[in-house]
Amino acid sequence: MKDPVDHILRPRLPWRGDEGAITECGYDAAKVRTLTRDEYFARRKELGQRRCAMVTCMTCADTAARWGDWGDDPRRALEREIAWECGLGYRTRTDHGQRLRDELAAIATLI
Ligand SMILES: [Zn+2]
Repeated sequence: MKDPVDHILRPRLPWRGDEGAITECGYDAAKVRTLTRDEYFARRKELGQRRCAMVTCMTCADTAARWGDWGDDPRRALEREIAWECGLGYRTRTDHGQRLRDELAAIATLI
C-alpha cells in the first residue's frame, strides 16, 4: 500500500549517524517518504496548516510540534531519547533496545 503522506524525520542526537533513522511517528525512515523538521515547518508556513495536513502525517506533525531537537535544548533531546528507550510513553514498552544506555556509559568513560 502506498502511503499518501510524507513523514517527518525524527531529530537525531548529534553523535548518531543515519543508520536506524526513524520518523516522528516511529516508522523506519528508510521505508517511507520523509522530510526534515525544517522542511516540514517551511511547508506548513507555505501551504498553511490545513493544506499541509493533507500531505503530511499528522502523528508526525503533532510530535514534531511537541518536541524540540538538540539545537533547541540538549536536555530536552536527551529527555526524549530516555523516554523512548525506557518505554515511558502512554504504554510501557521494552523493545527499544539499550543504545542510549550504552552511549551514556561511553560518555561517562570519556568524561
Ligand atoms: Zn508519520
